Amino acid sequence: MLTRRMGLQTVGLMRILSIAYGQFPQVFKLYSRFQPGIGHLKVILEITPAGGFERARFLTVFRQLAEFFPTISQHSCCEEWETAPLYLEKEDGVSIKRVGEAADVAHLIEHVIVDMQVGLGGLHRCSGLTCGWKDPDNRFDLFVECANARVGLFASQFAVYLVSRILTKRKLSARNRFVLTLAAYMQANPSVNIDVPGLARALGWKKRDTEMALSRLREFGFFENGKDDEVREEEDV
Ligand SMILES: [Zn+2]
Repeated sequence: MLTRRMGLQTVGLMRILSIAYGQFPQVFKLYSRFQPGIGHLKVILEITPAGGFERARFLTVFRQLAEFFPTISQHSCCEEWETAPLYLEKEDGVSIKRVGEAADVAHLIEHVIVDMQVGLGGLHRCSGLTCGWKDPDNRFDLFVECANARVGLFASQFAVYLVSRILTKRKLSARNRFVLTLAAYMQANPSVNIDVPGLARALGWKKRDTEMALSRLREFGFFENGKDDEVREEEDV
């Protein structure tokens, strides 16, 4: 099995230890909703500080994310785990269940990545899974179905960035919408020239906002071309 290791980055409070894209046959044993033939992103993430956050904070983070990604409110979550003794809490109007530990942060990030695989990555439906390590207990493997490795690389880093921003700043800047909108525009218009004045004109934006959005897309790997000489291929990450 070949996987591609695509990036290593610290984003705010979180540390992305690796992002790989490939086939991970073992995940089909863990979750029956994964669709055969679709590759997975595997994101290894460390959440700092370890430990969960209380209900009010979880709801704040969820609601801010739902403003940016409205379809997140319609996700189904942990349906196969209803009978497992995980003490999952269901909240009214909140589609993502809470366990009260660092896993909640990783789990929210997973749902944001899932949402972008449908919104940007061309999947009609997408499933994800968050697996916690025993040691260290603030480390998580996220598996997310993904049809476009480049969008997956971007979505993983952008999701980590957004959640980290909410946790540190409490409020997401509305300017992040430019990043998401530009990503969608580039996906819909793959042959468009990547130049600030042209994009600003096409989108009716100020050059300053266009520049910011473009540099975020670059920073989070949206334009990574994925040539074999730029990624390392390896066995079983
Ligand atoms: Zn879930």
